Parts: sequence; C-alpha cells; structure tokens
Amino acid sequence: MPEKPYDHTQIELKWHERWRDATFYKAEEHSAKPKYYVLEMLPYPSGTLHIGHIRNYSIGDALARYKWMRGFNVLHPMGWDAFGLPAENAAIANHRPPREWTLQNIAAMKKTHRRFAFSYDWDREVATCDPEYYRWNQWFFLQMLSRGLAYRKKALLNWCPKCATVLANEQVVEGCCWRHEDTPVEQRALEQWFLKITAYADQLLDDMRQLEGGWPERVLIMQRNWIGRSEGAEVDFHLAETGEAIRVFTTRVDTIYGATCVILAPEHPLNQKLLDDAGRARAKAMVDERANRDPGDIEKEGFFTGHYAINPYSGEQIPIWVGNFVLMGYGTGAIMAVPAHDERDFEFCRKYGIAVRPVIRPVDGALAVEPGMTEAFLEYGIVENSGPWSGLPSEEARRRMAAYAEEHGFGKAAVTFRIKDWGISRQRYWGTPIPVIYCPQCGMVPVPEDQLPVLLPDRIEITGTGRSPLENVPEFVNVACPRCGGPARRETDTMDTFIDSSWYFYRYCDPHNSQMPFDPAKIAYWFEIDQYIGGVEHAILHLIYSRFFTKMMRDIGLISNSEPVRRMFTQGMVIAEGAKMSKSKGNVVGADMLAEKFGADTARMFVLFAAPPEKEVDWRTEGAEGIYRFLGRVYRFATRNAGAEGSREGTSDKKVLRKLHQTLRKITEDFETRWHFNTCIAGVMELMNVLIAEEAGISAAVMPEILEKLALMLAPFAPYVSQEIWEELGHQGPVFRQCWPAYDAELAKEELAEIVVQVNGKLRARVYAAFGTPGGDLERLAVADDKVRPFLEGKTVRKIIVVPDKLVNIVAA
Ligand SMILES: [Zn+2]
Ligand SMILES: [Zn+2]
Repeated sequence: MPEKPYDHTQIELKWHERWRDATFYKAEEHSAKPKYYVLEMLPYPSGTLHIGHIRNYSIGDALARYKWMRGFNVLHPMGWDAFGLPAENAAIANHRPPREWTLQNIAAMKKTHRRFAFSYDWDREVATCDPEYYRWNQWFFLQMLSRGLAYRKKALLNWCPKCATVLANEQVVEGCCWRHEDTPVEQRALEQWFLKITAYADQLLDDMRQLEGGWPERVLIMQRNWIGRSEGAEVDFHLAETGEAIRVFTTRVDTIYGATCVILAPEHPLNQKLLDDAGRARAKAMVDERANRDPGDIEKEGFFTGHYAINPYSGEQIPIWVGNFVLMGYGTGAIMAVPAHDERDFEFCRKYGIAVRPVIRPVDGALAVEPGMTEAFLEYGIVENSGPWSGLPSEEARRRMAAYAEEHGFGKAAVTFRIKDWGISRQRYWGTPIPVIYCPQCGMVPVPEDQLPVLLPDRIEITGTGRSPLENVPEFVNVACPRCGGPARRETDTMDTFIDSSWYFYRYCDPHNSQMPFDPAKIAYWFEIDQYIGGVEHAILHLIYSRFFTKMMRDIGLISNSEPVRRMFTQGMVIAEGAKMSKSKGNVVGADMLAEKFGADTARMFVLFAAPPEKEVDWRTEGAEGIYRFLGRVYRFATRNAGAEGSREGTSDKKVLRKLHQTLRKITEDFETRWHFNTCIAGVMELMNVLIAEEAGISAAVMPEILEKLALMLAPFAPYVSQEIWEELGHQGPVFRQCWPAYDAELAKEELAEIVVQVNGKLRARVYAAFGTPGGDLERLAVADDKVRPFLEGKTVRKIIVVPDKLVNIVAA
C-alpha cells in the first residue's frame, strides 16, 4: 500500500469523534476477571490542565490500558476536588458565583481530558462540590461526632483587622495579610471543630508495615516523622511551696539527676498561679509571636518564675522557668531541662547561666567535666551520679526508673506523638457546611441524618469581611432546633477540603448511591486500590488523612480493609526548558497547546520518554519534535507495509523477529516491575531502526505479525496512532482491548555468532559468542578453547587478529 503521511490532527480527531460515546472504558460491576483499581489523584478545577497533569495521567493511563490488555477488569475513574479557596477568591475578584466558576472550569478540563483520550470511566465522575457527594462528608462527621471522634475546642485563628475577616494560612504572607501587606495578622481564639486523628496515631504508624515495599520509602519516612512517636516516661515534679504536681514528659528519664530546671510552655495553666501580671504578659507575648512566625525563626527565650520544683528521684529543688520553645501540644506542656544531655537544653541553659550537670558517661569513656563542656552528650551510656541508679546502662535505667515512678505513684512509662488532632473548621463559604445547630435551650445539636445534606446556599454575596460568609445569610443561619423546635442558629463554618479527598476513591466504586456513601460489597470487591499515582507533595496531609478515614470507616463497620492503597507511586515534577513552571513566569506548558501543536500521542510519549517516571522531566520543544518524528516513522512504515504481498525472500526475518520479541519482553517486564517507560519507548525506537534498515529483507509472511505487535505494544503509550494502525491492518475494535502479545522466549534469545579460530592461519576450532562481543573477550575465548590450547603449547603468542563476529587468528611462534 502507498505510504501515508502522519497527520496527527486528522488521526486524533477522527478517533476522538468515534470514541465520544464509547463504553469500553467502563469498569464491569460483576466480572470473573481479576480486578485492577488504578487511580491518579483528582485535580483541583483551576480551569486548565498543564503538562504536569498530563504526566500524572499518562502514567496511570498506560498502566490501565496495559492491564486491560492483560485481561483485568480495570477501574480507572476521575473526578474533581472542587471545593476550596481559589473559587472564593475568583468570586471576590470577578463577582462570579464560586459554583458557576467551578463548573465551567470542570467542563473545560474534562474536554482536555477527553482530547487526550485518557481512559476514564466517566459514568463514575465525582465532583466534591456536588450535594450528593458532600452530604456524605456531613454523614461521616455525624458518625464521628457520636463516637467522640469529632469535638469542639477553642483554637487560634488568623485575623486581619483591616479586612475584618479570618484568613486562611495561605493568605498570611510573612505574618501579614495578603491584601494588606503592612498589616500584621492577629490571633483570635474561636471555637473550632477537630477530628481526633490522634486516637489512631498508633495504628497509622503500625500499619505502615503493610505498606512497605508498595509505597515509596521516603513517603513512609515523612509519615513516620509527621506522626512522631516517642517512647519515654511521664514524671511528676512537685511545686516546692504546695506540692502540686507538674507533670513532664521525657524520653530520657535516665538523665533526670542531670535536670537543672523545669520549663513550662507559655500557655501552661500553672502560669496563671505562678506568674505576676508582668510575667503573664511576657508569656502571652510568646504565644502571639509563635502564632505569627515560622518556629525556625524564633530565638529560644525564657524567664525565671521565681518558684522551685522538687525532683521526685533526688529530692533536689530546681528553678521553674517559662520557655517559648516548649509546646503545649507535645507531651504535657512542661519539660525538665537536662543541658548536659540535650542540645536544645544545653543552648538554653548556657544562655541563661543555668547549671549544666553531666550524669551519663560513654560506655568506654569518662564522665564529662563541667565547667568546660562545649556540647551536650546525647548518646546512651552509663548512668553516673544518680543515687541508686548509678552504674546502670541507659536503656536499663530508662525502663527501671519508669517502673519505679509508677510503683511510687509519681509517673509511668508513656508514649507521645507529634501529630495533633485535625482542625477542620474553615471560615469559608465554598466548602461542606458542618452539620450542627446551636440552640439557646439545648446547646449544640447535630443535624438529624434524615435532614442531610445541609445545602450550601447558592446565591450569596462574598464580601471578604466578617467570619464565615455564611453568617450573612439569614435563611441559612436561622433554623428551628431539631430537638425543641425553638429558634436556633446553624454552624456557619465549613469543612477543610482535605475531608473531601479523604474518601473520594471509595465513592468511585458506587458513585450514584443515594442511601449510603457506598455499598460495602462494592468496596469489598474493588479495594484496596492496586495502584495510586500522584505527587510527593501529598505524602503527608492527604495520604495520612485518607488512611485515617479508612480506619474510621472500618471501625464504624462500613468496610473491612484497614488501608486504602496497596501501592503508591509518586511521579517526579515537570519543569519547562530548565526552569520551574509558574504562572508569573508565563512558562506553563498548557495541555491544550500540546494537543494542538504536537498531538496527544506525542505529548504523552514525551512525558513518559524524557525520564523515568519518578524523576524530574524537563519539557523541551525539540524533545517533543523528536517524538513526533518517531511516531511519523512508525506510521509511515506501517502504512506502506500494510497488506504487503509478494514473495520476498525474508533474509532479515530472523533478525527482525528476534528484535521484535526482545522489545516485547522488555516492555512486558517493565510494566510488571520497574515502570521504566522511558527505556520501553527507547526500545521501540531501536526496534524501528532495525525494521527500517532491514525493511527490504522482511517477507510478506512475517510482516503482518510485526505490524500488529508494533501497534499493540504502542497502544498503552500512544492510543491514537496505534488505533489508526490497527485499523489500517484491517482490524476492528479498540486496540487496547486486544490481548497483550506474549513474547516468544526462544525467538527473543540472542543468536550467537560462529567464530572461526585459526592458529597461524590454520582452522583449529569454532567458538560461539553473542553478536557484537568485544574483541578482547573473543581473544580470551579463543585462547582458552580446549581444541586450540594444544597448538599454543610451548609457543609465545605474538599477535592476535580479530574480525568481529567472524574470526580470530592467533599468530604464535
Ligand atoms: Zn487584610
Ligand atoms: Zn433546642
């Protein structure tokens, strides 16, 4: 057949049109096939997709298509993380309702998704701003409320006095309001809702063992650090005047004889009693500073309260200080300072001239001498100068001293976590309303389940002043109390949008259920997610919150799995022409431009080819042009050889088939293990080089197999052009629903070259080696051969002549 030019626009738009109503991306509800749930993180509907998105989706799409070809029932859904601040900011800037702005953006982005032919089951599309979705956020909230997993307490919020509004953390720029750069943000204490994620701290940590191997190690490390479990002891020091207990948490109770002061957090309740007005004002200033500044920028400061505490082990009296670096949320809000054995305490005590007293010596060394210590000794060792505990190794002392405290009623072994409860109240409009009502008679009353969803009112004015914009909507706020029927007020805060994304992937399994968040039987079939793909920036918040939600859902009896995601993959970033992409630089590579200029196939292949999926990809126009030329070569080769007839001899058949099966073997192995799609694609490029070089020697009997397999192996990466080739070959139906071609291991075997070995020009042996074996290796092989050695005995090798793949001639005398 005559060769056809590669016209990406014509090919892609033709299939785009034909696939418009196609049903072959649908997951089957009931199937005898093994299931495979592959998921890419859902985007925020900002309005446009860029090359970073395309990379994320191209990885997932290649995998989904491959799994279909391997005979799996694949679930590959997509949705929209549709609530959030940008919609609200756009509403203030452009006077457009957030819903309208969001839905329009979703429509535009979905169009791009379709243009790229990402294989989503759009019947399962979820938008988190849909009342049919967020009602279940409210339902989960009520389940947690009734189990004590949701609670209210006062917490500090950012407040701009000029805007007269609460600010989100992202709206605070270097301690000032984003709209009033000269106005420092104040802290106001307001009642906030929290979810008790700390109740699951141990499980979140322990269950990470199930994730090892399937999740990137660095994500697990980040989660471990975030959860921050420390084992230690709680011990009561006693206020010298009254005997009142001051509980401290320490991971090193073995150093307690070296404690030279107790330090309280500035908000510690005892300060109210111990401090005078000036002291309380200093403590409050510390709290304010901490709320407004990056903790790393704050210098450690403190002051003496004028009071003393008694060490429960030694009976010694030590001074009580207040320190700005002691946190109320970690441990007990009070620490004992052991400057000789803790870096931070050492720095603090040196600054204020507080005693430093070493009590741990290295196992094979002497106790440090003070004065004269220049740094703290942090390691475990042997306990000294510690009464009856002296001479014990640190580990043993830790254990026995904690037990002693417990026996004598002044402490116990304890574990503490860095992770804090999840504050979910947002003083925003564009989010899920929190389903509670405040009644002057009954207090806080949950909205009854049969009154869900609490709908977000649609036409409201967002002014950017006050607390939540919902406060200014009387028809929303004023409500009859569900308990007594009297006048009451709705909660006007909305939920953190991270709630939306904490369970969305469950809803994909049953997206239209109006009775429950989902049917547990469907979850039992599809979960856990086999492969989740997204950015490493979600390693903590989203990926911890969704693990927490899964455990909560299991505990309320909805599901039986304890973890949502079996395998997690974090793809690398995309930069453009060597620079980080940003709107302000104007170098964002948009997906629509890519589709138009190069075509979806080229853009997909580029992001998969330019680097291994976990590494950074640098967008280069000339790189994309290279991919475009490659696809053109494939297409022209296929069209000019499709339907080839005749009796060409097939002198190259063997060589070409070997390369074909080697390439298939490589791609198959990569899909099953390492995902080195870049080297897969490089393999197809090499194959094309061989095919074109040997084209005249390929017989008509072998050509159809070659062209079919070429189309099939490209199908996961370049769906349009492979489908077009598939049709050119006279086949019907979607190419990615064909069976993935098996490689023939025998054919893929490297053929060996027969090498003639001569000694002084006479044939003495034949040896076999892979084609392309280097000359030095052939020399060694020849000289060591059993048939050759007798002819070299007693002689010296003067020279060896090698003709690669053919001959070794040894000159010996
Ligand atoms: Zn402001
Ligand atoms: Zn009431």
